[in-house]
Formats: sequence, C-alpha cells, structure tokens
Amino acid sequence: MTEAKQYTCIGCPIGCPLHLEHDGNTIKEVSGYECDRGAKYAHQEFIDPRRSLSTTVAISGAMWPRLPIRTCKPIHKDQVLEAVRKIQALKLQAPVKMGQVLIRDFMGEKGIDVVACRTMKRADESS
Ligand code: SF4
Repeated sequence: MTEAKQYTCIGCPIGCPLHLEHDGNTIKEVSGYECDRGAKYAHQEFIDPRRSLSTTVAISGAMWPRLPIRTCKPIHKDQVLEAVRKIQALKLQAPVKMGQVLIRDFMGEKGIDVVACRTMKRADESS
C-alpha cells in the first residue's frame, strides 16, 4: 500500500515542500523539489534522518563559563536527546583548543567526533 510523507527541504531558504510516496521501505516517488538537493534530502530523511548537533558545555577554569561544541558530522535524529545528555555530562577543564576532539566515535559511530568550536584559554592566562 502506497503511503506519503511530507518534508520541507532545508537546503536553501526557499524551503521547497517535498512529497515522498513509499510502499513500506521502498521509495516510489519524490516530488516538489526545485533541484536535486531536495530529492536527496527527502531520501535521506526517509531512510536515515540525521541532524547536526551544536550546543555549549560548561568548562572550568576558563575565561568564559561555557564552550561551544559541535559534532563533526550529523548524528541519527532519534539519538539527539541522548546525545545532548551525554555532552552535558562532560567535565571540561581549560585550556581547550579549537578543533580539539572532546569525544571520539560519539554515540558509537566511527568517525563522528565531538569537537570544540573555539579555543578557550585558562582564566589566569594572558591573551
Ligand atoms: S529543493 Fe533545492 S531549491 Fe528547493 S529548498 Fe531544497 S535546495 Fe532549495
């Protein structure tokens, strides 16, 4: 039996409304996109939806109380809440360098690391 899902493409500000028809796990048709990125996005959302994760985490001994961090690749959408909990449990101590890997192979996925988005010196270090 053919069923349908609706998505909004996030590839650019136009936000094309995407219509995907599927029979079980088999995609039958995707429509509504203005360029190939939309079709690719609908396929990805149906097969393996993922989200990039950017947030901040507390850091001790630094000039600022929180460090911006991100995953270097998108993670499974249904793991985002658990991922945020794990990241918030991090105990960081300054100094940290931009790009420094804070958690390797995050959520059990090889090649997905949590990295620092900025350098954070110790509070008592001069600039
Ligand atoms: S399908 Fe193409 S034009 Fe439409 S929102 Fe996505 S990237 Fe933009």
